[in-house]
Amino acid sequence: MDHAIIDQAADRQLNVEPYWMPFTPNRHVKADPTPRIVTSAKGAYYRTADGRELFDSLSGLWCCPLGHAQPRIVEALRRQAETLDYCPAFQMTNPVTLRLAERIADMAPDGLDRVFFTNSGSEAVDTALKIALGYHRLRGEAGRFRMIGREKGYHGVGFGGMSVGGMVANRKMFATAMIQGVDHLRHTHDYAEMAFSKGQPAWGAHLADDLERMVALHDAGTIACVIVEPLQGSAGVIVPPLGYLQRLREICTRHGILLIFDEVITGFGRLGAPFGADRLGVIPDMITFAKGITNGIVPMGGVIVRKEIYDTFMTGPAAAVELFHGYTYSGHPLAAAVAHASLDLMEEGDLFARVRELEPILEGAVHTLRDEPGIKDIRNFGLTAAVDLEPTPGQPGARALRVFERGLREGILLRFTGDTIAMGPPFISTPAEITGMIEMLRGLIRTEA
Ligand code: PMP
Repeated sequence: MDHAIIDQAADRQLNVEPYWMPFTPNRHVKADPTPRIVTSAKGAYYRTADGRELFDSLSGLWCCPLGHAQPRIVEALRRQAETLDYCPAFQMTNPVTLRLAERIADMAPDGLDRVFFTNSGSEAVDTALKIALGYHRLRGEAGRFRMIGREKGYHGVGFGGMSVGGMVANRKMFATAMIQGVDHLRHTHDYAEMAFSKGQPAWGAHLADDLERMVALHDAGTIACVIVEPLQGSAGVIVPPLGYLQRLREICTRHGILLIFDEVITGFGRLGAPFGADRLGVIPDMITFAKGITNGIVPMGGVIVRKEIYDTFMTGPAAAVELFHGYTYSGHPLAAAVAHASLDLMEEGDLFARVRELEPILEGAVHTLRDEPGIKDIRNFGLTAAVDLEPTPGQPGARALRVFERGLREGILLRFTGDTIAMGPPFISTPAEITGMIEMLRGLIRTEA
C-alpha cells in the first residue's frame, strides 16, 4: 500500500486494502494506487488526488456523455431529493417516473413504447431475457427457451447476461453456471476482410446467416430471442457490417424469434441518433438501455418493449401481477429527475447532431494513427473509435496496459481491453479536444512501441 495518499476531506491516509475493486487487477493496482485515485470532475476532465488533470476519453465508462458536474443536473438531483427522495417501486409510482417513461417511449423507434425501469445494464438485460421467456409462454409457446447471443458480446454480469455474453474471460470462472440452451452467433470482426475500415464495414452481412444455421439445428420453436449489441462496445468497438442487422431482423421475424438490441452504450446519442436502431435503420422488439440516460450520475437502466409484447402480458391470465419481476429501486425518482435533466440538455444542445458533426473529425484523426508503430487495426462509428495495438510477443494486454498507465501520468484516461484502446469522448468535447485526444494517444503509442 502507498502510504502517501491523503484523504483531504477526512485529513487522514487512505487505506486501499478493504476495497475489492471490480474488473480490476487488485494486486497490481494496490501496489501503486496513487495514479488511479480521482477526487473531482468537471466537464470532460477528472482531477486526481495528486493534482493531475485527465481527459475523460471514454465519458466515464461510456456513461457521462454530457461531461461532469453539469449544474442543471446537480440542481435537478437536489430538488428531487427535497421533494420526493424515494417512492416504493411496487404497487406505487410518482409523476417524475411516469413522465420519464412517456418521454423515453416518445424518443424510441416506432412501435417500442412501453418502458420497464432497472438500475443497471446488467439488470436491463436480465429483465429483457425474462420478458422474452414470459412472452412466449403466455402465447402458448413455452418451448421457446433458447437464447442466442454473440461471441464477444457484453451484456453485463448477471447470470442471464453472462450466459448470452461472449467475452471469454468473463465466462471462464463461471463456466459451469451458464444458463442452459444458450448459443452464440459468430462475432463480426475479421482482420483480413475489414482492417482499418471507416464506419460500417462493407464485408460481413452474411455472418447473420449463422442464425439460420441455429434455427435449422435447434428448431425455431425452441428459440426465444436473439440479443446483440448493435455496435459491440466492450469488445472494442466492433462496428456492424452493412446489412448484417437487417438480415438478423429478417430471420428473427420469419421465425417468430424476438430481437433484442442491447443499447446500454449506443442508446441516447452515442451513434448520433436517439438509439443505434435509428442510426442503423433496424427496429428490434426490445431495447435495453442504461449509462447515458442519467449521464452516469445516478444508476438507472431499463428495457423499452414493443407494445404487442406488453399487451401479451396484459391480456394473459389474471394473476396477482402480470410480471413477477422488479427492483426496489426501479424507476427511482432521483434517477428519473436526473434523466429528465440529462435529456433536456441533450435536446437543448442538439447533441445528437453534434455527435454527427464530431464523427468525421474523430474518424479523420484516429485513422492517422495507422502509420504509427505496431498498429493492427483502427475502427470508428458515431462518437466511438478503437485502436488495436500489435501485442508485445507472449504478453497479451501488456502493451495497452503500458499505454494506459503512461496516459494517466500524461493527462488522459483511456480504456483498454486486451490490446485494444477504445474511445468514446463526451458529446460536449470540442473538435480540438477530439484531435488533442488522438495526439496524446499518438505520443503514448510511440513511447510504448
Ligand atoms: N450491456 C452492455 C452493452 C454494456 O456495455 C454494459 C456495461 N458496459 C452492460 C450491459 C452492463 O451494464 P452495467 O455495468 O450497468 O450492469
